[in-house]
Amino acid sequence: MIDCLIVGFNDSNFAAYVQTVKALGVDSGAYRDLSLAFLEYEGRHYRALDILTHLHPNDDVYFANTDFLWPTITYLGSYLSKHGFSFDYINEFQRDTELFREKLQQNDILTIAITTTLYVLPDPILEVVNFIRQYNKTVKIIVGGPYICNQFESLSELEFQSLFHYLSADIYVNNREGEATLVDILSALKHGDDLSEVKNISYKIGDEYKITHSEVESNDLEDNMVNYTLFPKRDIGQFVSLRTAKSCPFSCAFCGFPARAGKYVYTSVDHVEKELNALKELGTVTTLTFLDDTFNVPKKRFADILQMMIRNQYEFKWNSFFRSDHGDESIIELMKEAGCEGVFLGTESGSNTILEKMNKTARREHYMKTIPWFRKYGITTYASMIVGFPGETFETYQETIDLIEETQPDFYRGQLWFCDPLTPIWEKREEYGVTGSGFAWSHKTMDSETACDLIDQMFLSIQNSIWMPQWGFELWSIYYLQRKGMSLEQIKKFVRDFNAVIAEQLLYPNKKDISPKLVDNLKQSCQFDLKMLS
Ligand code: SF4
Repeated sequence: MIDCLIVGFNDSNFAAYVQTVKALGVDSGAYRDLSLAFLEYEGRHYRALDILTHLHPNDDVYFANTDFLWPTITYLGSYLSKHGFSFDYINEFQRDTELFREKLQQNDILTIAITTTLYVLPDPILEVVNFIRQYNKTVKIIVGGPYICNQFESLSELEFQSLFHYLSADIYVNNREGEATLVDILSALKHGDDLSEVKNISYKIGDEYKITHSEVESNDLEDNMVNYTLFPKRDIGQFVSLRTAKSCPFSCAFCGFPARAGKYVYTSVDHVEKELNALKELGTVTTLTFLDDTFNVPKKRFADILQMMIRNQYEFKWNSFFRSDHGDESIIELMKEAGCEGVFLGTESGSNTILEKMNKTARREHYMKTIPWFRKYGITTYASMIVGFPGETFETYQETIDLIEETQPDFYRGQLWFCDPLTPIWEKREEYGVTGSGFAWSHKTMDSETACDLIDQMFLSIQNSIWMPQWGFELWSIYYLQRKGMSLEQIKKFVRDFNAVIAEQLLYPNKKDISPKLVDNLKQSCQFDLKMLS
């Protein structure tokens, strides 16, 4: 019997997701943000990679933003195996439905662990739970991960009890890490022990979910390196995401991550080398994504990692986050030599006034230097901006526009500020006159509706950089498409053509059909490999 089957991700029905968000109101911040990431064509909603798949001349070709082995599976599977438990996995629920059905019908699985990274709504979890119950009534369903922890921390007991009933799983893990908790659950279930002794869970007794004692769980990264040999090479494929640190040493006022993730710790350069050697050994991996939010901090360790990668001549292409105030031209040159092909820049604003209020250590001057340096060394840049943070005015917004136009990152996106009670700025809400929360807020200098208007204006007016759709197409998609044979220039043209349709739909919401010229452009972009196919 398999002790635990891990379900990686459910890239659930996008049309249904659009309807759910639309139900919040077409003027809601959530819907306006989403509507800059999909187009309507022949009565259906398409994200960028969906339309690329749809309009590509070869019916067998498939493009998806989730076309890799989910890192939670490799990490959790390795952890369970190390602790003596057997595991299996379903990587992406929608694509692996048939396989999942077969596994469930074999009836030899003790538990199913549903991970919840990236979910903002409960629907994808519910869909998986209902599917499991349809084919297997006895398996214990465990749900854990960021979505559950966020709900557990932010909802009242009545609210999360009601959510847990709605999802109807057997056990929930209320812990940021949770792998040790999962091991304790499996151990208790296998030995017939009482679940009340397992820390950090909610489990069903009668009509109630009983919450057990909570205790901070902290698993050492070096002791728990992924064992890639446990996974078939064809499942690992070309793309691997890895983490070399936990938490973040900064405390940006709009971000609750460091407070939730605890102390910033990172692995040694030797450990990173060990993991990269293991990946090289596989012979299939071409592209690495370092998930660490501050991979280039501290500077000395980052430089040592780059030197180590150059020394080993790995030939991986890789991408990462980059803090612009923690690097100079020489480090960027070294990054290029070590195989870096792209960086995510949490730029946030072009205004030093706002950057200061955000408690960012980087300033406009840093971005003015680093973005052109990255361009000089052929490293793709994506500048992510926040619009509407407390203190934002039309003038500070204009500074952001000017920064993008002047520095010309390859891609950019404007995000509506998300007013989150679990972030440091919440403590200052009286000072800034903040009312509301989430994507519906107001403060002394702006409200969310005005910020949405400014984001639309940004989307429509920026000339020197390309809007990143984000939903279903993000920075990773650029490397993915390049490995699929699309050149960077072809990708840029495709995203521009995709955005042009969205712009038309934004400007003329009552127009029934997309202009033929725009459809032609998009079709041409989607046939990028026509010559290769013929
Ligand atoms: S936004 Fe990034 S750098 Fe700032 S606190 Fe959050 S994780 Fe750290």
